[in-house]
Amino acid sequence: MSEGLVTASYIVAAVFFILSLAGLSKQETAKNGNLFGIIGMTIALGATILNPSTTGVVWIILAMVIGGAIGVRLALKVEMTEMPELVAILHSFVGMAAVLVGYNSFIDLHPQAINEIVVAIGSDLDTTLATAEAAFAQASQAQQDSHHLTGAMLNIHLVEVFLGVFIGAVTFTGSVVAFGKLRGLIPSKALTLPHRHKMNLVAVIVSLILMVQFVQTGGAITPILIMTLIAFAFGWHLVASIGGADMPVVVSMLNSYSGWAAAAAGFMLSNDLLIIVGALVGSSGAILSYIMCKAMNRSFISVIAGGFGNDSAASTGEEEVGEYRETTAEDVADMLRNSDSVIITPGYGMAVAQAQYPVAEITRKLRDLGIKVRFGIHPVAGRLPGHMNVLLAEAKVPYDIVLEMDEINEDFSDTDTVLVIGANDTVNPAAMEDPNSPIAGMPVLEVWKAQNVIGFKRSMNTGYAGVQNPLFFKDNTQMLFGDAKDSVEAILKAL
Ligand code: NDP
Repeated sequence: MSEGLVTASYIVAAVFFILSLAGLSKQETAKNGNLFGIIGMTIALGATILNPSTTGVVWIILAMVIGGAIGVRLALKVEMTEMPELVAILHSFVGMAAVLVGYNSFIDLHPQAINEIVVAIGSDLDTTLATAEAAFAQASQAQQDSHHLTGAMLNIHLVEVFLGVFIGAVTFTGSVVAFGKLRGLIPSKALTLPHRHKMNLVAVIVSLILMVQFVQTGGAITPILIMTLIAFAFGWHLVASIGGADMPVVVSMLNSYSGWAAAAAGFMLSNDLLIIVGALVGSSGAILSYIMCKAMNRSFISVIAGGFGNDSAASTGEEEVGEYRETTAEDVADMLRNSDSVIITPGYGMAVAQAQYPVAEITRKLRDLGIKVRFGIHPVAGRLPGHMNVLLAEAKVPYDIVLEMDEINEDFSDTDTVLVIGANDTVNPAAMEDPNSPIAGMPVLEVWKAQNVIGFKRSMNTGYAGVQNPLFFKDNTQMLFGDAKDSVEAILKAL
């Protein structure tokens, strides 16, 4: 394959990626969007392998087979509710790839220095480090003298390498923490270390100083090594200090970071397609983060700066807030039969219980009885953007009765019955009523304005944000305890 054909293939692949993003923006066209993405990636991989300047094709194919096999296995095994975790850990791979590409470019600049270090590794640590420092200093000088990359070009390349490693390292540890929080391995609550914002600021300033030093020394090893450690800690702290309810924004923000990390790797490798794809992912992730911040009434800057500005003496929100009333499936069936209008607000619990199928069935049955049934979808319900829409579409619930929060929030006061199926944070009035709540200011589905509310859950446990929900203690709310699927099936039977 000629170089020209490779470039042309990259342009075609880039067009497919743009079509893919456009397709993924609507439920009806999402399948086509996925298909365009697959075609684009196939063209990109084919062109890269057939590129005449590509060496070690056997290694690349071997890596692709191993990676592909792991990917297929994971994709087949993963539950829908585990998708955000999978996405988070995949982001961490992109981050680590950018770090490795950065160090590879750095080593490429200093090949003979690496040889000297390998020889010195047999001796003690001090000697090895001293040899490494001296060898890199000497190699940097030789680099500048050799006219290979000099002056402004060398400086630009060094900045590329430094920024690539920085963004990659932040993305890596940030994504690992996000994975841990989403999987429940790390508490979802915000880690609030004393002086945390000052620490973040110091990390950024010190990294900038190290970048200047890195460029001035023509690429010495000490500044980039220290920066890498700082960036790992910075990424970890940045995500650890963001509370559970803001995790959706963090996931899309890390998506954006992983795009920028890929773009940085593209600059280091002089690969135009990687730059384009990285920029597409980076900017679409940033736009999604912005949209989610707006939907959750959060400041974009506050979230990307690790919860900056959220230091008010927040209540833990864990305390019980009164007495709750229990009901039975038969009573709920009676209540539904006597209703003219019903709104269902699903949440993460519906996904866990896989209750979307009986929910779709109950919807059909109630509509057949002449009852107006609609769904109210909060933008961050579940554990990934569009989670509820995907589940309901899977169960063949008609699109036109599935409404966004803004479209339905005014209608709750005219509604007879609201079924809150496995939702908690997204229907929590504390967000509007308690200025000290960790979720204060987040717009929620105002279900408590309806005549009757039924809460479907297994216990009085809190939702993902770890905040108690006063909705479940209100006079017009009754609790139907149990697995959401079992409860909905029991109501179906009683109807
Ligand atoms: P929540 O996580 O607030 O609450 C889910 C509720 O479902 C829990 O209270 C739980 O109560 C109940 N539940 C769990 N399993 C079952 C089951 N088998 N049957 C019945 N009930 C069950 O869900 P929401 O959807 O309301 O809110 C989503 C939260 O997740 C928000 O805080 C959001 O910020 C966050 N988030 C969202 C992401 C996104 O992109 N959408 C990504 C990351 C986080 P119990 O244990 O008592 O049954």
